[in-house]
Amino acid sequence: MENYRSPWLTPDHDIYREAVRKFIETEFVPHRERWAERGHMEHEYWLKAGEVGLLCPDVPEEYGGAGGDFGFDAVVYEELQRACVSAFGSGIQSIVAHYIVRYGTEEQKQRWLPKMATGEFITSIAMTEPGTGSDLQAVKTRAVRDGDEYSITGSKIFITNGYNANLICVVCKTDPSARAKGISLVFMEPDKVTGFSRGKPLKKIGMKGQDTCELFFDNVRVPVENVLGGVEGQGFYQLMNQLPRERLIIAVSAVAAMENIVRVTTDYVKQRQAFGQTLFDFQNTKFTLAECKTEAFIGRVFLDHCIQALNAGELDSVRASMAKYWCTEKQVELANRCLQLHGGYGYIMDYPIAHFFADGRVQMIYGGSNEIMKELIGRSL
Ligand SMILES: Cc1cc2nc3c(=O)[nH]c(=O)nc-3n(C[C@H](O)[C@H](O)[C@H](O)COP(=O)(O)OP(=O)(O)OC[C@H]3O[C@@H](n4cnc5c(N)ncnc54)[C@H](O)[C@@H]3O)c2cc1C
Repeated sequence: MENYRSPWLTPDHDIYREAVRKFIETEFVPHRERWAERGHMEHEYWLKAGEVGLLCPDVPEEYGGAGGDFGFDAVVYEELQRACVSAFGSGIQSIVAHYIVRYGTEEQKQRWLPKMATGEFITSIAMTEPGTGSDLQAVKTRAVRDGDEYSITGSKIFITNGYNANLICVVCKTDPSARAKGISLVFMEPDKVTGFSRGKPLKKIGMKGQDTCELFFDNVRVPVENVLGGVEGQGFYQLMNQLPRERLIIAVSAVAAMENIVRVTTDYVKQRQAFGQTLFDFQNTKFTLAECKTEAFIGRVFLDHCIQALNAGELDSVRASMAKYWCTEKQVELANRCLQLHGGYGYIMDYPIAHFFADGRVQMIYGGSNEIMKELIGRSL
C-alpha cells in the first residue's frame, strides 16, 4: 500500500532489503529455470547467499549470525517472492537455526550455527514419513541407543533441502511406547555416516527448483551428543514451541505473494487490449483487483501485528495459526483470480502469475495443513 509502512521496519531493514534485492536479481534470477529443470540449486549459491548475509540474519552474532530481529528474515522471504525465486530453501535453514539457538547446548551452537550462517551447512528438518504427516506423534523412525551412539532406522518423505542437506535434524522415536514424550530431535551429518541414502528430488507441480526428497535410514550410527539439547524425549515440545515462528515465515511469504500478484496483474491488465480498450477498463477487472488489493492489505496489517508480537516474544500459537491459515488461503485464491485476468498468458510460465499460481498451492499444505491450523484455533474457542 502506497501510504502504509510496516511498523516493524527500520532504516536498517531498508538498507538490507536493497542489498538482498540486488543479490537475488543478479545471483538467483538468471538461474531460476535451470534450477527448476534440475529440481534443486547448487551448493555454491548457498555459499554466495551466506557471504552477503542472507542466511541466519536473526541469529546472535556470537554464533555467526547478524544479530538482527525477525524483520530481517522477513525481508529475505519478501524479496524472494518479489523475484519469483522459490528454489532457495532458506526458510528451513532459519527454522533449524532457531531450534539450535533456543535448545542447543553451547557446544552444538558453536559446532553448527556459524557454518549454517555461511551456507557451508545446508539443513533440513525431517518430520514427515510415508505413513504419517499431520499426526506427528505417530512417527516411526527409531533411534535406538547403543553405547555412545544412536542407531537410526526409518524413512522420511517430502523433506525440503533433502537432496542438498549436509546437516539433517531427524525427528525420531527414542521411546516407541510413548507418543509425544518418546520423540527426540537427532542431528545427523550425512557425510559422516553409512546406511543413509536419499531419493531423487520429487517432481512437484510448483516450487520446482526447491529440492524435496525422500530420505532413508538403515542403521545410521550417530553420536549421542547429537541429540538436540543433550536430553532425550524433548523433541515434540521443542518442535511445538517454535511453531509460531515457522508459521509466521509461511504467512510472510503468503502476504508478499499477494502483494506481488496484485502488482504484476495490475501492470498486465493496464497494457493488454481487448474490445478497443485495456483490460483494466472493464469494471470486472477493476472490481476483482480492488477486492484482491483489499485482501492483501488486510493480510499485511494482520501479519505486521504478528511480526511485532513475535519480536516482542508474545506471539501465541493461535494467532500464528490464524496468520498461516488465512494468508495462505487468500494467497491461493488471489493467484487463481488474477491468473484468470491474464487469460491464456496466465497459464504460461513466462508470466510471473503462473509461478505464483503453481508455487503458492503447497502453502496451504505444509507447515501444518490449514485444517490442522483450524483445529488449533478451534481449541481456543
Ligand atoms: C513441497 C513440500 C515441502 C515439504 N517440506 C517438508 C519438510 O521440510 N519437512 C517435513 O518434515 N515435511 C515437509 N513436508 C510435508 C508436509 O508438512 C506434509 O505434507 C503435511 O504436514 C501434511 O501431511 P501429509 O502429507 O501426510 O497429509 P495427511 O496428514 O495425510 O493429511 C491429508 C489431508 O487430511 C487432512 N487432515 C489430517 N488430519 C486432520 C485432522 N485431524 N482434522 C482435519 N483434517 C485433517 C489434512 O489437512 C490434509 O488435507 C513438505 C511437503 C511438501 C509438499
